[in-house]
Amino acid sequence: MGGLDLSRVLIVGLGRSGLAAARLAARDGTEVWITDQRRDPEFGDALVGLPSGVRRFFGGHPLECLEGVDLLVVSPGVAPDVEILRAARKRKISICTEVEFAWMHAPDAPLVAVTGSNGKSTVTMLTVEMLVAGGVAAVAGGNLGTAACELVMTGGWECWVLEISSFQAELLTEMKPSVGIFLNLSQDHLERHPDMASYGSAKRRLFAYQDASDVAVLNADDEQVIGTPTAARRRLFSLEEPADAWLDGQRLMLDGNFFVDRSDVALPGIHNMANALAATLAAVELGARPEDAAAVLGEFAGLDHRHLTIHEADGVRWVDDSKATNVGAALAAL
Ligand code: ADP
Repeated sequence: MGGLDLSRVLIVGLGRSGLAAARLAARDGTEVWITDQRRDPEFGDALVGLPSGVRRFFGGHPLECLEGVDLLVVSPGVAPDVEILRAARKRKISICTEVEFAWMHAPDAPLVAVTGSNGKSTVTMLTVEMLVAGGVAAVAGGNLGTAACELVMTGGWECWVLEISSFQAELLTEMKPSVGIFLNLSQDHLERHPDMASYGSAKRRLFAYQDASDVAVLNADDEQVIGTPTAARRRLFSLEEPADAWLDGQRLMLDGNFFVDRSDVALPGIHNMANALAATLAAVELGARPEDAAAVLGEFAGLDHRHLTIHEADGVRWVDDSKATNVGAALAAL
């Protein structure tokens, strides 16, 4: 996974992903500058792993930190219209997110990118497990778990599956997933996006740079998803009607063939059948077989805090669904 030919990179926002981007840029031999709203003491031990010689601008983003910079790598927590980004655009300095910076280091590795309002983590994990079951060395990262830049530095995999939030998607400028998955769109993050239209178009950017050699896995039951413009080959999933992957009563179907019965899927709830179909379409595209998908669906009981039954007594079931943080997720859970 080759390095980039840049002379100076500025990392804006030093969360987990920003720090990973700083380390990756330093590994490339690029000069690294970093800036964060927070002041030095607030970082605790987080800065210990930073390479030496990194110039730091803390307690805000003074404009002098743009000097001689070729590329800004922006953390998902930074709003896209803060002054430093506006100034960078005016000076025609390129801007990308940590995920895209990672992708620039491995543009030819098969990439599954997962977006949507709900189900991203579940589908990311299902897809990775299905690929692994099919003998593909796949890893998960992005919004979920390991930062994408960290995966680049670690290496040892052939395919990556990244969970992409709308914050990361909205700044994409060239990332081209081999397989993009768009699960659904319901109200969320309206504190950051002015309205649903802009929230939707942020997510659709994930499909904007795909070409005919790529695949877009789209939810046929969601009007806002199905209309996503893309040059990629479309593969549709549905809980309601025949599609490339769909739920025919109790039977999960792929390309017209039955591959697993709903009663053999370990995940609960109808929303998880949509997740299962989406992950299957993606994994099969990159080398897993339908029987690998079926085997994983039989075993994978879900991630913590996502609709997990934690106790049952006197006819009452206690469910931990604390990851249901928007209306769409709460409705699905109910
Ligand atoms: P995300 O990573 O998008 O937040 P998760 O996979 O962590 O999604 O699931 C979070 C919660 O969203 C789950 O506990 C469940 O309540 C709900 N959920 C999961 N998948 C779906 C879906 N396909 N449609 C609607 N809600 C869902």
